Amino acid sequence: FQNPKNHLRKLEPLRSGRSLVMESHKTLFDVDKFDDEFVQKLVYDALVWSSLHGLVVGDKAYQKSGNVPGVGMMHAPIALLPTAFPEVYWNQACDVTPIFNELIDRVSLDGKFLQDSLSRTKKADIFTSRLLDIHSKMLERNKKEDIRLGLHRFDYMLDEETNSLLQIEMNTIACSFPGHSRLVSELHQTLLRSYGDQLGIDSERVPKNASTRQFADALAKAWFEYNNPRAVVMVIVQPEERNMYDQHWLSSTLREKHNIVAIRKTLAEVEKEGSVQKDGTLIVGGQAVAIVYFRSGYTPNDHPSESEWNARMLIEESSAVKCPTIAYHLTGSKKIQQELAKPGVLERFLDNKEDIAKLRKCFAGLWSLDDQEIVKKAIEKPGLFVMKPQREGGGNNIYGDDVRENLLRLQREGEDGTAAYILMQRIFPKVSNTYMMREGAYHKNQAISELGVYGAYLRNKDKIIVNEQSGYLMRTKISSSDEGGVAAGFGVLDSIYLN
Ligand code: ADP
Ligand code: MG
Ligand code: MG
Repeated sequence: FQNPKNHLRKLEPLRSGRSLVMESHKTLFDVDKFDDEFVQKLVYDALVWSSLHGLVVGDKAYQKSGNVPGVGMMHAPIALLPTAFPEVYWNQACDVTPIFNELIDRVSLDGKFLQDSLSRTKKADIFTSRLLDIHSKMLERNKKEDIRLGLHRFDYMLDEETNSLLQIEMNTIACSFPGHSRLVSELHQTLLRSYGDQLGIDSERVPKNASTRQFADALAKAWFEYNNPRAVVMVIVQPEERNMYDQHWLSSTLREKHNIVAIRKTLAEVEKEGSVQKDGTLIVGGQAVAIVYFRSGYTPNDHPSESEWNARMLIEESSAVKCPTIAYHLTGSKKIQQELAKPGVLERFLDNKEDIAKLRKCFAGLWSLDDQEIVKKAIEKPGLFVMKPQREGGGNNIYGDDVRENLLRLQREGEDGTAAYILMQRIFPKVSNTYMMREGAYHKNQAISELGVYGAYLRNKDKIIVNEQSGYLMRTKISSSDEGGVAAGFGVLDSIYLN
């Protein structure tokens, strides 16, 4: 391994040139001016760093890599260098995080608002309907959740034309990469320190990212509120999970920093091994559970049989702290996002006018398909819209000419199907050249980015214990790909440098 160059695959011819990097230290780096040798050095260092620091995922090529830790590991898909992000928008995204955290909590308490807003969706979407059924049962029983823990991620894109930070969505369940995002920021900081002279950026321009510690601290504080020293945190996982190391970062931080044990169970295992005692304690595999932290349970695929639904119900009936509760889960749905964007709705949940204005400023255009005028416009100009079903996890939205086709199809089929979707203004972020690394290979692409800001919220009755912005995750994807799934293979994990 003397010469790293020989061991790296190059997918695209890079512009060769004598003067590799920066002419001046004052200008920020321009990847088009990098020469091959310099890029290869950075790539090599990034791959070594990722392997040594646990910035890894299961390798698809190894069947066991989704179940057995330590087998078939691959560096996570990453951007070689951080992406520029204007400091004003970064501040704006951080500033609104506690307000969004609070909003989610308030909305979750309004059972009637959730049920009414989703009543038509319920008829069109069986998955949402099942969630709503659990929610109604809890309302009927007047079930109270005194301790409420939210580990959220609010995603944004910077719209180039209007120069505004617009929210893509609010995630209230199974937000991914609170473990890895910290590492990506650290990797980029490390590269900027090593190659600062050539790159011309101070590593301090990459904001500190304590996502793992902050989410683990919030889990630990919730555990403490639950007040059963023998109880564990239960992470609900998919039966096969190649992103397990991201999750293990939280579990191991809980263990090492707080001496709290985290166990991993699938929903099917919870059904088999779980029960709720008279006093409400959730027992799984003989252990009392203080917190149920969902990293599964957000798509129909996570519920292949009735067992999984029984498990979700069992958890909801128990006194364990649920992250999220069924109400938090529903509050994060696309339909609720669209309802909240209607005039006058935020005012139902928040009192402070300034806060309301701040949130509204980052709402993109959002519409129900009842809005005939917008549907007509979207049929005429489908490229300006995204059609979104009530789904999570990427890969479900409809773009471009498919928007027109689907709208016309729904019109032919009659009313009901339309309630399964919302329409959203399409956001067009700035395109820039980025080196992306996947499976040991690197590739220069035209890319666009989406900033995710993590938010942690914990309260016990009237006492707000945590309400903070908790790190961030940039995701960068090839600009021609509509969906940016990191796991799906189009996007990479990234960080930002402020400019
Ligand atoms: P999910 O819950 O499945 O992640 P999202 O609303 O985040 O759903 O949509 C998935 C992806 O689609 C986003 O990460 C983003 O890349 C793209 N996307 C979503 N909404 C828009 C929009 N309004 N404009 C442009 N791209 C969008
Ligand atoms: Mg989502
Ligand atoms: Mg998303």
